[in-house]
Amino acid sequence: MRTMEMIDIGCNLTHDSFDSDRTQVLEHAREAGVVQMIVTGASEQGSRDALQLARQYRGELFATAGVHPHLAARFTSETETLLTQLSKEKEVVAVGETGLDYFRDLSPRDIQRDVFQKQLAIGISSGLPVFLHMRDAHADFRSILKEVRGALSDVVVHCFTGSRDELHDYLNLDCHIGITGWICDERRGTHMKGYLGDIPANRLMIETDSPYLKPRDLRPRVKSHRNEPRWLPWILNSVSAARGEEPSALAAQTAANARRFFRISGL
Ligand SMILES: [Zn+2]
Repeated sequence: MRTMEMIDIGCNLTHDSFDSDRTQVLEHAREAGVVQMIVTGASEQGSRDALQLARQYRGELFATAGVHPHLAARFTSETETLLTQLSKEKEVVAVGETGLDYFRDLSPRDIQRDVFQKQLAIGISSGLPVFLHMRDAHADFRSILKEVRGALSDVVVHCFTGSRDELHDYLNLDCHIGITGWICDERRGTHMKGYLGDIPANRLMIETDSPYLKPRDLRPRVKSHRNEPRWLPWILNSVSAARGEEPSALAAQTAANARRFFRISGL
């Protein structure tokens, strides 16, 4: 029997950097105790591909359907129709990734807000939980979310890297919080260690955001810049150290949270 089972709630496994060895990446994830993964849909094609992948690995992989704020400028009424259709598929367990990103500003901010609201509306009509992205856009993000929070089911602010005040704003809006390998980065994750303990145990989930954000403290060092679900234990260890908890207890708790949040059963 395996001692630790983890769920990666955010990995971009449809990314082309996995095209040559996706089967092996999944095998390595299993060996590391990552038993289930939620494949992020962040574009029209990416959401279709995520569904396809989830169908290929039923019960192990699940998909989200959404358009990242970077791509908001390309969102059309056809996109809206597609996401609505995808949200009805049983392998699609959340709407998103959607939200606001004012750090890179790859789409105009007014369009980002509009497209975020449209996807939240799909979250409401589908009844699915929503998978949200926020970077450097707290005030607008919070006010848009607050307006519809009561009509939404569960909400996760994924890859949370903000301040303690921002964290508490989201907890007050009854959000779950997803933590990535940002926490493992001594250059920019230190501020998070002070507040990770504030997150109630039943609201916390962990994710790699593969192929991005490879934990910087991986040992032995890995040459490739590509992140993989198999490095999730490093994130688990950093989070459990910051919270003063046993990694095995945190693994069990975050996996139970993920299963409840995404309404999936164990393998
Ligand atoms: Zn994101």
